[in-house]
Amino acid sequence: MKVIVVGAGVVGSATAYALSRAGARVTVCEAQYPGAGTSGESYAWVNANRKEPREYFELNLEGMRAHGRWQRDLADGANALGQWLWGTGHFEWSTDPTHSAHLDAKLERMSDWGYPAQVLEPRAAMAIEPALRLDSRVDRVVSYPQEGFCVPEMLISSTLQAARALGAEVLAGADVRSIEHRDGARVHLTDGTVLDADVVVACAGRWTQKVLASAGVDEVPMAPTDSKGLPTIGLLAYTRPRPPRLGRLLTTSRLNVRPQPHGGMILHALDLDRVADPAGDLGTDGPVAAELLDRVEEVLNLDSPVEIERLHIGRRSIPADGKTVSGFVGDGTWLYTIATHSGVTLAPLLADYAVQEIVHGNLVHQLAPFRPGRFANYNQQPEPPRATVPGDQ
Ligand SMILES: Cc1cc2nc3c(=O)[nH]c(=O)nc-3n(C[C@H](O)[C@H](O)[C@H](O)COP(=O)(O)OP(=O)(O)OC[C@H]3O[C@@H](n4cnc5c(N)ncnc54)[C@H](O)[C@@H]3O)c2cc1C
Repeated sequence: MKVIVVGAGVVGSATAYALSRAGARVTVCEAQYPGAGTSGESYAWVNANRKEPREYFELNLEGMRAHGRWQRDLADGANALGQWLWGTGHFEWSTDPTHSAHLDAKLERMSDWGYPAQVLEPRAAMAIEPALRLDSRVDRVVSYPQEGFCVPEMLISSTLQAARALGAEVLAGADVRSIEHRDGARVHLTDGTVLDADVVVACAGRWTQKVLASAGVDEVPMAPTDSKGLPTIGLLAYTRPRPPRLGRLLTTSRLNVRPQPHGGMILHALDLDRVADPAGDLGTDGPVAAELLDRVEEVLNLDSPVEIERLHIGRRSIPADGKTVSGFVGDGTWLYTIATHSGVTLAPLLADYAVQEIVHGNLVHQLAPFRPGRFANYNQQPEPPRATVPGDQ
């Protein structure tokens, strides 16, 4: 079977690898370079922590397990650079009544749903993570030992490398202009190249709607990403590398912190997403950077001052109703799509599921709530469900 994968973010790269491993002859068409889209601007926390409803939680939990399996499989024979998954665990605490109420409700849900979460005395948490600064309002720290983070660039390079070793071709700068249904599929690139395949898999992130429209398919509306204040806009700050002091992810009432393997950190505050204008630029010496640095001081006690190297405004790829989309679109089985938020957590799993459906012809029942067909009457609904940031950052 010949398959063209459109897009080489985490989802397209993982899908290209899974399809190649299943024996498909794969060509990846990436308009820019692998990782150029949302995958290159992600907080990349691998988790099922705040994911609801139950089926989305289960999908993410299975996504965490798939990451672990893939990391072990692909690490075999690879060098240390092949590591993308860091199972550091995650600590959360609250200094705000609303956050505390959410945390209580979440802990109850987690216990019902069997998700590992352990409540620690602040002193016990500081013994594990000495860089924490816990003020007197903190009465507990919740530990989620099975969570971690991903380095998306490493997931992309490892999966593409493995796909290439299995015969896949990766075309960077291959901008798909249109897709035709013609005895399978025919893909036209903007440079005039024409490629044939049995199936095309659109993994085009926030460009999914556009890529599918070029195939005459109008089934997957994506949430807009073009203005300030939208739930798709996320602001991340990257700090300068220092010898690492922080060993796990932190979620607090005012700041979230993700360590980087080289000693830097990624800072994120959901309330500051609102000030980020995707058309503008935020300087590292401006008020937003200063606010983030103040918040770092509130939660971490480090040897040396933290410096912000850059601020980046990311655009989340979220289907219009907020939920994952995965499955065949249009008539027949020549065009498949995967578009999702939490794509870093979900990429290996959704890639495995795509192989089941595309190569083996087995419908995956776990994907039933996530089919593109749910949008059939979306715009006719008086109040169609709108995207929020589902779960993570
Ligand atoms: C601020 C922020 C924080 C996040 N935090 C988390 C988190 O903590 N955990 C988590 O799991 N997820 C998180 N996410 C979401 C996650 O990053 C995305 O869901 C994921 O990266 C999407 O990957 P993708 O491969 O679908 O899309 P992308 O990475 O955008 O890849 C799509 C690719 O398609 C290419 N393309 C587009 N059009 C064409 C065309 N016509 N022809 C050829 N190629 C084309 C693009 O160039 C791009 O490279 C976060 C996202 C943001 C922005």
